[in-house]
Amino acid sequence: MPGFEVFSQEERKEVLDVLDTGVLFRYGFDAARKGHWKAKTFEKEFAKRMNVKYCHMVSSGTTADITALAACGVGAGDEVIVPPFTFVATFEAVLAVGAVPVFADIDDTLCLAPESVEKVLTPRTKAVMPVHMCGSMAKIDELERVCREKGLILIEDTCQAVGGTFFGQALGTFGAMGCFSFDPVKTITAGEGGAVVTQDEALYNAADQFSDHGHDHVGNDRGAEDHPIMGLNFRISELNAAVAVAQLRKLDFILEKQRANKKAIKDALSKYKDISFRHIPDPAGDTATFLCWLLPDEAAAREAVAGIAKVGLSGCPYWYANKWHYFKSWDHLHNLKAASRLPIELCERLPNYKNLDLEASDKLMSRTLTMQIMVNWTEADLADRIEKLDKVFGG
Ligand SMILES: *Cc1c(COP(=O)(O)O)cnc(C)c1O
Repeated sequence: MPGFEVFSQEERKEVLDVLDTGVLFRYGFDAARKGHWKAKTFEKEFAKRMNVKYCHMVSSGTTADITALAACGVGAGDEVIVPPFTFVATFEAVLAVGAVPVFADIDDTLCLAPESVEKVLTPRTKAVMPVHMCGSMAKIDELERVCREKGLILIEDTCQAVGGTFFGQALGTFGAMGCFSFDPVKTITAGEGGAVVTQDEALYNAADQFSDHGHDHVGNDRGAEDHPIMGLNFRISELNAAVAVAQLRKLDFILEKQRANKKAIKDALSKYKDISFRHIPDPAGDTATFLCWLLPDEAAAREAVAGIAKVGLSGCPYWYANKWHYFKSWDHLHNLKAASRLPIELCERLPNYKNLDLEASDKLMSRTLTMQIMVNWTEADLADRIEKLDKVFGG
């Protein structure tokens, strides 16, 4: 799965470049930094890899989500359609800009269903934020079409699918902006970090300014720069960006390993007739960080969860009962519990988060099991996993 498994000389070298100069800040200090621009280097290489014009690094995937929403003009009272199966950061980001998260169902891709999006549209809908969950893609072409037809902004939360593609085009590049995370459990890591990508110069400028107090980054004197908009500080440090530079150069190696390991596990499970697999709209573009499979019903899934615990198979989340990734356990959201009063509490019409009707999602998630795919599994690790799975599913 993640970059945390792959950390060696290359990451160390990039970090040492930064430590040798003592310039930990991504802007300025031109002479002292001796040519080392880690955030800028990453942005250039990542934009090239994603085949987009612009990339801007920020401090996390969460701040990437917030930055993209803000840069795209999503704010107070706007509704943003999000999936109920995602990491909490997606709806947190919507709340952070004062917008209203509106949940629509997922489909057999385990990502936002295009038909379901159409059902929850209101005159206040401003954006749609699908999440390419667990390494693989939503029906992004259909979501893009719905957004285009309805005049909505498409922002892709691609935090879990860096390096994924849909018929050759990078995930994260189908909408106005794509958001990425490089936290320690993502496919590549910066320790902590994130990025947004876009083809649009105005959106890029807004993101660049918003994430650094509104600085326009024109000229060589930070104190004399103009501030076209107000912003916040979501800057990434050069130390973190340095790690990301080394990790990005390993992305293809990581994807290749994950794909081979996932195939071995999937092939082993394919012989069980009760098991089906999550639909992947373009299997060639799957990043293979996870394998998700479905059992006939919730009872069978729960029995398998117990079996997996009994044989001691690690890294197999049952998302349906998981606290962080499925809406059923988000009691803080259900009760709008925050540190302080939320902007959306001023809105007249709010969804009742306690009684969300997401039956289609429940039906899918209650039957879904998942295995995290690791990069560093040996042949023996794989054989051991397959033997344990056979114990669980072969009786
Ligand atoms: C990890 C993640 C985020 C947030 O990323 P951080 O870097 O941890 O802030 C946002 N969305 C999704 C879908 C994620 O998995």
